[in-house]
Amino acid sequence: MAYDPNNIFARIVRGEIPCVRVYEDADTLAFMDLMPQSEGHALIVPKVAGENLLDTPPESVAAAIRTTQRIARAAKAAFGPPGLIITQFNGPAAGQTVFHLHFHVIPVYTEAGLRLHAREKVSADVLEANAARIRAALLAE
Ligand code: AMP
Repeated sequence: MAYDPNNIFARIVRGEIPCVRVYEDADTLAFMDLMPQSEGHALIVPKVAGENLLDTPPESVAAAIRTTQRIARAAKAAFGPPGLIITQFNGPAAGQTVFHLHFHVIPVYTEAGLRLHAREKVSADVLEANAARIRAALLAE
């Protein structure tokens, strides 16, 4: 499948559609997942075009992983979950639904506590409040 430059995350990176932003640098962007699996679920994307881990330049993957680690540490500090899951899907068969490389940072609060993947939208107010907590933790680093 060829990379679609109009996929939703490419449009978010270009600022064409809104997101609840958490962090941005020259190479990466982090924002809240619209249908979070838990409180504080965030996504990290490299700014370059690439459908998944297999076809994105390694330096861009590295930049995205660096940001993923920062966001994971900030989410841990902000929400205090006992655990965090980092996921990344490659291809529809693996569960990928948006075809621009992204990493999920999903705080885990209880053993049975995750909501289903990409099912239920959360209000912008809740997403903004959670983003503010992660941003504050990033500032406190
Ligand atoms: P994946 O299945 O790994 O491709 O995950 C895509 C993720 O993007 C899902 O967790 C969705 O809830 C999330 N998502 C879809 N559209 C948006 C959007 N406009 N803003 C933020 N997150 C989104």
